[in-house]
Amino acid sequence: MTVTAVHHLNCGTMSLVATIGERLAPRRIVAHCLLVERDAGLVLVDTGFGMGDVRNPKRLTPSSRMLLRPRLVEEETAVAQVRALGHDPADVTDVVLTHMDFDHVGGLGDFPQATVHVYAAELDAATHPRLRERARYIEAMWAHGPRWRPLSEAGDDWNGLTSVTALDDDVLLLPLHGHTRGHCGVAVRRPAGEGGWLLHAGDCYFDAREAHEPPACAPGLALFQRMMATDHRKRIANLERVRELRSAHTGDVDVFCAHAAADFDRF
Ligand SMILES: [Zn+2]
Repeated sequence: MTVTAVHHLNCGTMSLVATIGERLAPRRIVAHCLLVERDAGLVLVDTGFGMGDVRNPKRLTPSSRMLLRPRLVEEETAVAQVRALGHDPADVTDVVLTHMDFDHVGGLGDFPQATVHVYAAELDAATHPRLRERARYIEAMWAHGPRWRPLSEAGDDWNGLTSVTALDDDVLLLPLHGHTRGHCGVAVRRPAGEGGWLLHAGDCYFDAREAHEPPACAPGLALFQRMMATDHRKRIANLERVRELRSAHTGDVDVFCAHAAADFDRF
C-alpha cells in the first residue's frame, strides 16, 4: 500500500489556562489527529472530539469540561474536516488509536464502519477500568459497537522501539505505555516525495520541548501529566526513548505529540 497524503487535523481546541494559569501552562492546546490517504482507503489516527460531544457536551464529566474547556464545535470534528477535504466519511476504513482517553475517541461514533486498531491492554483498560481510571474513559463513545482490532503480539524493532504492525508496513503502533495502560505512539510513513516518517507520540508528553534536548516543560503541564499518568515512571522512561529516537533520527522521523499547539502549528 502507498501513502499518498497525510493531513494534520486539530479535532479539539482546549484551554488549561483558566484553571492552571498562563505562566504555568500554554493558553491553547489541541487534539492533533492525522488523516492518512492511501490507495486502500482513508486512515484516521485518533479522532479527537466528535459530533456526539458537540451535540451532548454533558457526556464529558463536569471536571474535565472545567479543566480542559474544550470548544466542541462541529467544524473541528474529524468528520467535518474529512468532508471539507472532499472525502466521504464512509471511506475512512480504519482508525488507529494512541489510547482511549475521551479526548482521543470522541469521534469514533462518526466512523461506525471503520475497523479500530488499538493496543489490547488499552482496550482492556477502557472497558474494564480500575477505580482511578474511570473518569478518563467514557463508554458512550463506543456504545455503537466499533469493529475492534486489538493488537498485542510483540513486533519488530523500529528505530530502537518495539513496533506492532497496525495496518501494513506504512502504519505502525509503538507501545509507549505510562500515560495509560496501553498507550502507543503511531508511526506513519510519509508520502513518497516527502520521505521519512511521522511519529504521533500521543500523550507520551504534552509540552513539545519535552522531546527536545535539553528537555523543558511548563510546570503546570508537568504536574498535570504526573496526575494523569497511570504509571509515571514508565511514562518518563518511554519519553526518554522517544527523545533518543528523535535526536538519532532528526530529518528522518518527525516526532510530535497530541496536545502541543507548537507541534501542530509546524505542519
Ligand atoms: Zn489526551
